Amino acid sequence: MADSPKHIAVLGSTGSIGANSLDVIAASEGQLKAIALSAHSRMDELAAQAKKFRPRWVVVSDPKAAKRLDRKKLPSDCEVLVGPDALVEVAQHADVDVVLAGIVGRAGLESTWAALEQGKTVALANKETMVMAGELVSKLLAEKGGRLLPVDSEHSALFQALSAGKTDEVARLVLTASGGPFKDLPLHELQQITVAEALAHPTWDMGPKITIDSATMMNKALEIVEARWLFGVPAEKIAVVIHPQSIVHSLVEFVDGAVIAQMSPPDMRLPIQYALHYPNRVAGVARRIDWGQALHLNFDPPDRDRFPAIGLGEQAAKAGGTAGAVLNAANEAAVQSFLDGDLHFTEIVPACRSILKAHNHEARPTLEQLVKLDKWARQEVSRWVCA
Ligand code: NAD
Ligand code: MG
Repeated sequence: MADSPKHIAVLGSTGSIGANSLDVIAASEGQLKAIALSAHSRMDELAAQAKKFRPRWVVVSDPKAAKRLDRKKLPSDCEVLVGPDALVEVAQHADVDVVLAGIVGRAGLESTWAALEQGKTVALANKETMVMAGELVSKLLAEKGGRLLPVDSEHSALFQALSAGKTDEVARLVLTASGGPFKDLPLHELQQITVAEALAHPTWDMGPKITIDSATMMNKALEIVEARWLFGVPAEKIAVVIHPQSIVHSLVEFVDGAVIAQMSPPDMRLPIQYALHYPNRVAGVARRIDWGQALHLNFDPPDRDRFPAIGLGEQAAKAGGTAGAVLNAANEAAVQSFLDGDLHFTEIVPACRSILKAHNHEARPTLEQLVKLDKWARQEVSRWVCA
């Protein structure tokens, strides 16, 4: 008899990670089932997904958007849940096996936290939760026996490469970065970058927030902090290297000098599939390397004048405590201001630096303190914008 399918709650199903996750589920030949879908604003897309995947629940996290959902388009046995609390309810439900955390930004914190409180497995794309509260999340994991499986391609690569040795044999985690669209632009031209230019990523097709983060390299800064808490490796042992082809997704250097990498074309369906089917590997939908073609891989040290964000990531990973939450919130608000036309591209990182510097660092914050600081840092960005 066939095993019953693994029930996946796809939170953020209408986003880039969400859509890729549904591709993986559709290709799983019944091994995976989308038991819940969630969206914040795109109601027609949510209804179309519900029609195709027939989940038990659809969650609309924004109550205003829920008014636009045409319930007649949903399968008759599909229940609609509304509001942010519904994300928590679904994430904790006994019938959910894995929560795919694909919500963007700080909005993903409560549902990820709720799933881990129940000792569940979370396939984590929502890196902001680890940046904001990585140390507390690690404690929660140890307490409740849940599991975090990284979906971020670099962290999935590190997770896979780490299995080649023991934790105390790790010399360094090396995160690869494509360098984004501006890695070769003359520095004086960075000031004039438009939203459209910053949204055109050379190798990855992603949601707007992470695409801007990739252009400023704040994405790598956040990933340094994410790696620090996901793998319990100190900031001093995490390095960044520019690798424009996005084929090597990250590397682990062990104490003997051996370096283990994970390679595949840039396609998020592979890390998602690895997390959802874990611990099994299955033949899936992701693109493969064509070994009949020449493949050239470059690795360069990052230019820190061009990408000062990397230093902020290192600083936040070293400092721990409240630093990650402040950096994350300042960045989210600054990116939104840039997208709204209220901030220059080159002001995003300086705004984050100044707010990180201005905050009163606390080494052992509670989750409530982090949530408060998140609000504070966003207000500070508004002041920066008005100044
Ligand atoms: P996206 O903007 O394409 O999608 C975001 C999803 O979150 C949507 O379904 C949206 O409805 C939902 N959402 C937005 N605001 C919300 C709110 N306030 N409350 C509840 N839900 C809300 O983003 P994405 O590119 O899919 O990224 C999702 C997460 O995955 C981010 O944390 C990102 O850093 C991470 N990630 C993405 C990629 C990628 O390839 N896109 C790669 C690695 C990591
Ligand atoms: Mg990544």
